[in-house]
Amino acid sequence: MTEALFRDDAYLSTVEATVTGLRDDGGIVLDRTVFYATSGGQPGDTGHFERADGTLIKIDATITGETKADIVHLPEAGQPAPAIGETLVLHIDWKRRYKLMRMHTACHILSVVLPYPITGAAVGEDESRVDFDLSEASADKTELTDKMMAIVTANHPIFTRWITDAELDANPGLVKSANVKPPRGLGRIRLVCIGEDGAVDTQPCGGTHVSETQEVGDIHIGKIEKKGKENRRFRIRFGAPPA
Ligand SMILES: [Zn+2]
Repeated sequence: MTEALFRDDAYLSTVEATVTGLRDDGGIVLDRTVFYATSGGQPGDTGHFERADGTLIKIDATITGETKADIVHLPEAGQPAPAIGETLVLHIDWKRRYKLMRMHTACHILSVVLPYPITGAAVGEDESRVDFDLSEASADKTELTDKMMAIVTANHPIFTRWITDAELDANPGLVKSANVKPPRGLGRIRLVCIGEDGAVDTQPCGGTHVSETQEVGDIHIGKIEKKGKENRRFRIRFGAPPA
């Protein structure tokens, strides 16, 4: 099991860690990490590990292992392999991760202004998409963009809190995803809350987010596509809408 430091502090970009496992495919397992592993529509981190002699191990991708509690760092081809017990200094590609944090937060904001069940989502550095179970074509790009930007500029705080499985069962309305259920059996579930007491939005999520909505910056709905009879795909892009 890897201690997932990004869960309590998404802004931690570097830390010292110890190698606890090496997989046949070259994957490196550590006692703790700041590298987010691909999950919930958010891609895993890239970056590098620094060894005691100053040489670097470039990391191409981060994924979960046999269970969600295991995090595996996949090096680029041709990188030196560390030894079990070796101490490394971890550095994520912060510029990329910060964009993903802003984009991921933007997806939550879109789910506030479009309160329909979510059927899929993918967070990207330049563009994200969220699919909704939504049959009528009433959504307007400009109106949605304005509503999202009103939440961004209001600068609501974003924080996490943990609840028990039983508390989630008592509040089924917290789950916005139509086909991805929050992980059960760990005894607790992490909620991501926007606004004082989570008044703007509260939903289970294991990803990384910015700490106040203003950090998302300028975003707009770039495109709305029809995906099947009852699905609409919304693409969020950075920047002000094109004139
Ligand atoms: Zn999230």
